[in-house]
This record gives sequence, structure tokens and C-alpha cells, in this order.
Amino acid sequence: MKRNHILLLGFVALIALLPIMPTPEFWITLLNYIGLYSLVAIGLVLLTGVGGMTSFGQAAFVGIGAYSTAYLTTQFALSPWLGLLVGLALTVLSAYVIGLITMRMSGHYLPLATMAWGLSLYYMFGNLDFLGKYDGLNSIPSVNLLGKNLNTGREIYYLIWAFVLLAVFATQNLLNSRPGRAIRALKGGGIMAEAMGVNTAWMKVVIFVVAAIFASISGWLYAHLQHSVNPTPFGLNYGIEYLFMAVIGGVGHVWGAVLGAGLLTVLKDVLQGVLPKLLGATGNFEIIVFGVMMILLLQYSREGLWPFVRKLFPSGPPVRAPESAAALPVRQKPQPGELILDVQAVRKEFGGLVAVNDVSFQVRAGEIVGLIGPNGAGKSTTFNLVTGVLPLTRGTVKYRGAAISNLPSREIARRGIGRTFQHVQMLPTMTVLENVAIGAHLRGDFRPQGGVSASVLRLNRAEEQKLLFEAAKQLKRVGLADCMYMDAGSLALGQQRILEIARALCCDPALLLLDEPAAGLRYQEKQALADLLRKLKAEGMSILLVEHDMDFVMNLTDRVVVMEFGTWIAEGLPAEVQNNPKVLEAYLGGVE
Ligand code: ADP
Ligand code: MG
Repeated sequence: MKRNHILLLGFVALIALLPIMPTPEFWITLLNYIGLYSLVAIGLVLLTGVGGMTSFGQAAFVGIGAYSTAYLTTQFALSPWLGLLVGLALTVLSAYVIGLITMRMSGHYLPLATMAWGLSLYYMFGNLDFLGKYDGLNSIPSVNLLGKNLNTGREIYYLIWAFVLLAVFATQNLLNSRPGRAIRALKGGGIMAEAMGVNTAWMKVVIFVVAAIFASISGWLYAHLQHSVNPTPFGLNYGIEYLFMAVIGGVGHVWGAVLGAGLLTVLKDVLQGVLPKLLGATGNFEIIVFGVMMILLLQYSREGLWPFVRKLFPSGPPVRAPESAAALPVRQKPQPGELILDVQAVRKEFGGLVAVNDVSFQVRAGEIVGLIGPNGAGKSTTFNLVTGVLPLTRGTVKYRGAAISNLPSREIARRGIGRTFQHVQMLPTMTVLENVAIGAHLRGDFRPQGGVSASVLRLNRAEEQKLLFEAAKQLKRVGLADCMYMDAGSLALGQQRILEIARALCCDPALLLLDEPAAGLRYQEKQALADLLRKLKAEGMSILLVEHDMDFVMNLTDRVVVMEFGTWIAEGLPAEVQNNPKVLEAYLGGVE
């Protein structure tokens, strides 16, 4: 058994034994609250830590869970379990609608929107007559589990912690899956994820809903632990405290949420006792201490405290590639010589700057075409126009006979164009294997909602085996198999570029767009890369290549297109282009 499995078992055993042992009531109460807060914080790890979206509004979802069950059980004497179901239904519905609206927002608009949402729900709870206004609802019955009423804190304790453990495992299952890798890829802004076929807007809605579900369950448990609800614990203050917990524990790690909830709950209790005595006045001074802690932590340990705890018990890679697995389906490739990419007078203006000025060129199946030109010539922008990362100002891009201009980049990836980025786009704390597996996103089993529930329930094992096997296969193909289980961030820059090629190959592309793949590579690595690209070409792959190393380009390409200041200036065989006076002038200012 692995060491971290033993530690996990130890933790579960401790949690299970505490209520049976003569643990003081005070500690049981504290642990119950730690459990309730952990649930919300785990959702925030998913949303904020992994997905990169900050929400101050989680307390409002706790409120929906709490008020739904409070209202139904006190006014209609319905079962608390029915209250849970209704609360979850309301939560999913409201989170879905809010998610659709707000998740497209960028930067500071999203946190502001979640604040507005948290505030408005708080005032709604406090102003609705049937919810008891600011007095709330009282005499909420206990949950009945298998014929037993969970009346006391000691009795509902197991239910709370069962939900916490379920949330931890569900979140871990989700993260170690195809949709989970897509969720983790959101953090860099989503351009790379979209280019690998991920519907980032949908993935954001999904994690918003999942986080809301955890918060709502916490609210349900809270209502039946307290037997009363009022608006206070669902206000913005608590929304902020939940964020503190997630950040201090370690916002990128599921167990960090439990650690943060535990630390802050205990600390708050201690500070509430000590600070008023020290300061000789009453007030929520602990918030100031938390704020200072946050600032120090953000200064010295962005990842929170969990990484320090985790160092005490190192673990291996989170997922491993299988020795063998069923092959993924492959697309039908074009015949050699078929016109595969037809770029017709594409134009891109950034304000007054014409970055790409009515450029046209073609790529045929099985060709390696070089796109060269001095810095700022518009090569990367052209790539972004072809792959849908940027909208065209005008012009047309056709791929295998069909117009793809202004399709979303995930749709262009689906049709068979894989790409790499001039500035490497990968997830440094994820293994090389998992990074490459993101490329196979569209080759997973099709499920209408993206395979989220199957992943949460671990029904995705066969699919995972196929995807990870494919990723390992592409890593072997590019010669990076030895680094499979290393963190991608620990690779040298040149290797990171090769990683991107493996990831693009995982899309099963018919056309590869490589933006400066040889930059940062040593001589021998360049040779190996050239060999790899020749091998791909021999297998029928078409490649469009931006590269500054002229020897590399001239020895490898079938044809070269030259751009300068956004404009097409020459095209031809490498030898022709090399001696073209216009090209020499562009590169050398006409010295030769
Ligand atoms: P290359 O890849 O050939 O070096 P780029 O395509 O990156 O050139 O850039 C072409 C021109 O467009 C440059 O002048 C660059 O400053 C400008 N540019 C590129 N992206 C943007 C953007 N998002 N906004 C404004 N200007 C841009
Ligand atoms: Mg560039």
C-alpha cells in the first residue's frame, strides 16, 4: 500500500473514532463546522484554485440549500431529504443561469458579479416574509438516517464528514479525467484549451455548478445541525471567509480546502477569545488577522499551506499510462497533393496597425511549408487567424475545401488542425503525460455533458486508459517518453516545445501548425526535431512551419512563404527564396 493511502486511512479512522472517544462536546462542534466549511472550500478549490475564477458568492448557495430545506420541513412538514433534493435543484438551476451569464466575463467583472449575487440573495433572505425576514426560520427538524434521528452534533457528525469525504473523492476523480484536464487547462486563459478542442465556456459553467452543489449541501447540513436559519451566515462576509479558507489551505489542492477550513475555524475560535481581551474591546478583529495572513501568504507561498504538508509524504505521479489499451479512432487523412489549406487574402487589423495585409498562400497534403519573415512580420497572427484564435478582419480560410474562417478554434481543432504556440502554453504543475493528454480531448467517448458525471463516479476508466495510452504513444513518437511523469514545468524550454508537438499530435491532425518549434533547441535537438518532422511528412502529415533558423527551414521545407510588415513578399522553393533580392532586403536591409 502506498504511503499516502496509509495516511488517508489514518485520517478517516481518526475522524471516525473521535465521536466514540470521550472527545469534549466543544471539539465535536468545531469539527462539525470544519466539515461544513470544508465542503464550500472544496468547491472553491475547483472554481478558484483550479479553474482560476474567483467567487465571493458561495455563501449565497449555502443559503439556498439551508433555506430550501428549512422552509419545506417547517412549513409543509416534508422530509429533510426532500428538502435536500429541492435545494439541490434550485441550486443547480440558479448556478447554471448565473454561470451562463457571468462565466463569460473576464478579469474583475466576474468577482464583482459574484459579489452582487451574494449581496442580493442575502437581502432577499432577509426581506421575504415567508422566510421569516431577518429572524429566519426556527424549529427545523433533524435528519432521519436509516430510522435514526440525528438530533445532536455528535449524531450528525458522521453525515457531515461522509459528505466531505465524498466531495473530496468526487473532486479528485473529476480532476484526474478528460474533463478535469480541460478544467485545469482553463487557468492559462483558455486559448490553448480551446485550440485543443475544449469548450471552455461550458467547462466554466460546469465547475460553477459543481462548486454551488457542494455549498448547497453544506447549507442543508447546517440547517439540520442548527435547527434554525437566519440570513447572517449567508452574507458576503462569509463568502469572503470561504475564500480565505481555500487560499490559506492551498487553493490548488483538494485537501488544502479541508486544511484551510480546519485552520481558520480553530484560529477564529482562539482569536475570538484572545483578541477582545488583548484589545479591551469587542468586534470581529479576527478578520484583520486573517487579512494579514492572506497578504503574507500571497507574498511568500501562493500555493497556500498544503504544499508544505504534502512535502512530508511525497507521492508518485497522479496517473500512469497503461501498458496497452484499445486504440482511439483516427480520422481519414487527405490524399497526398490534395489542397488542404487555402488562405485567401486574409487580413487582420489591430486598431490602425495592419498585422496581416491580405495574405494568400496554400498548403497541400504531405508538404512542409515554411512561413518566414523578420520579427513582427505577422506570422504568429496568421497562425491565429487560421486556427480561429483571432477573428479575421476579412478574407477566407478554407480547410479541405470548406470555409473555416471565424469558426471557434475548438471547431477548427475538431476538423483536424493541430498547433503549437510561439510562447509555450502548458500547465507547469501537471505531468508531461497529462499535459499531452489534453490534446486528445476531442477523441474521448462522446457524452452530451462532456463526461463530467461519468468522471465523478469513476465510470471513465476505459476512456482514461485509451487517452493516456495515446498520450504516451505520442510522447514516444517525439522522443520524450523518458520525461512522461515529470512536471511539465521542470522540462527545458526546448523540451517544452516538443511537448507541445506531442500534444498537437494527440488531436490526430491532418495539418500541423508549428510556431518556432526549434527556438531554444540545441544543435542536436534541432536535428532530432528535423528528423521527426520528416518522419511525420513521410506518414502523410502536412506541416506549416514558422521558424527563424534558416538552415533548419531551408533543409526541411518543400516551399517557403515570406512575409514582411504583414505583407506577402515572396514564395517559392527554398533555394529560390534564398536568392530573392526582396527577401534579402527584408532580412539584411539590402546589404548583400
Ligand atoms: P511575428 O510572429 O511575425 O513575429 P506577430 O504576428 O506576432 O509577428 O505580430 C505582427 C504585428 O502585430 C506586430 O507588430 C505585433 O506587435 C502586432 N500584434 C500582434 N498581436 C497583437 C495584438 N493582440 N494586439 C495588437 N497588436 C498585435
Ligand atoms: Mg511570432
